[in-house]
Amino acid sequence: MKKVIVSGMRPTGAIHLGHYVGVIKNWVELQHDHDCYFFLADWHALTSNFDELDVIRKSRYDYVRGWIASGMDTKNAHIYNQSSCPEILYLSQIFLCLTPPGWADRSPSWKDQVQNPKKKLDNLGFYTYPVLQAADIAILKGQLVPVGEDQVAHVEIAREIVRKFNRLYGTKLPEPQSLLHSVSKLPGTDGVKMSSSIGNVILLNETEKSLQKKLNKLKTDDKRDGIEKPGNPDNCLVYEYHKVFSSKSEIEEVCQACKAAQLGCGECKKRLGDVMKKELMPIAERFNSISDQECQDIIDEGTRIVSEKVRVTWQEIMEKIRFNR
Ligand code: SF4
Repeated sequence: MKKVIVSGMRPTGAIHLGHYVGVIKNWVELQHDHDCYFFLADWHALTSNFDELDVIRKSRYDYVRGWIASGMDTKNAHIYNQSSCPEILYLSQIFLCLTPPGWADRSPSWKDQVQNPKKKLDNLGFYTYPVLQAADIAILKGQLVPVGEDQVAHVEIAREIVRKFNRLYGTKLPEPQSLLHSVSKLPGTDGVKMSSSIGNVILLNETEKSLQKKLNKLKTDDKRDGIEKPGNPDNCLVYEYHKVFSSKSEIEEVCQACKAAQLGCGECKKRLGDVMKKELMPIAERFNSISDQECQDIIDEGTRIVSEKVRVTWQEIMEKIRFNR
């Protein structure tokens, strides 16, 4: 029997290449061998965009478009809307009552907030984010959660919450495990984390021209002063991008040619552009061909199926914990 995977993305702005290489490509791989539930995490989006509902509303369709254009198939994966399943919040409320604050303190996202305070994230919703995440997973009897190394702690918290819940109430919800994958991290065009709130993104549906224009602006090795001087690929954003998109042999060739002063930065960016266009232009074309109505239909159908499953789990839980027997 296929294992159940549950994972979501927060629709908080434009869908971009950071999402594509860090999450979506992996999801598309996983859909073939697992029972996949991928959701629009709109309640999670509220933790940072509570005063920008339009951003959440608008980006939902673009996320679905991006997933489908990248190869997700609704025959293999259920795409649904988190906030259309209120039982997730009911379960989250119960989970909140049995989660000590110390567990939430262990969340890497919260630790980051404490060390680098961001005003918008200074709220209880963000602090208890891992608890809602535990409910997202448990209500679908999720067994695996695809994460990078830096997110393992979140799944550990979810596992401990589910274990405690099972012990207290005699339920048999699966304890979720991390499904580790090597996350390709693609920095934004300015070299820091790609984020639509910063405006340093490369969109999933760039045109050939706009893509190359953005690549041409990427910072190169600033210590290299001229094509006749050797460069240092490790000090170059263009090379970071090559490492994500180019073949192994191309990466090695670029590295050696750069160090031997046999490759100019303009040519290097053009080669990168050629590789990226080959992979991304078919995706951009599909992306642009999917209408809002098609996205809504996909969400509606996925949410209908998922809601039924969620209701069954909730009934099982209520059998154990209802007060008015
Ligand atoms: S040749 Fe390529 S890797 Fe070397 S510094 Fe220029 S852009 Fe970077």
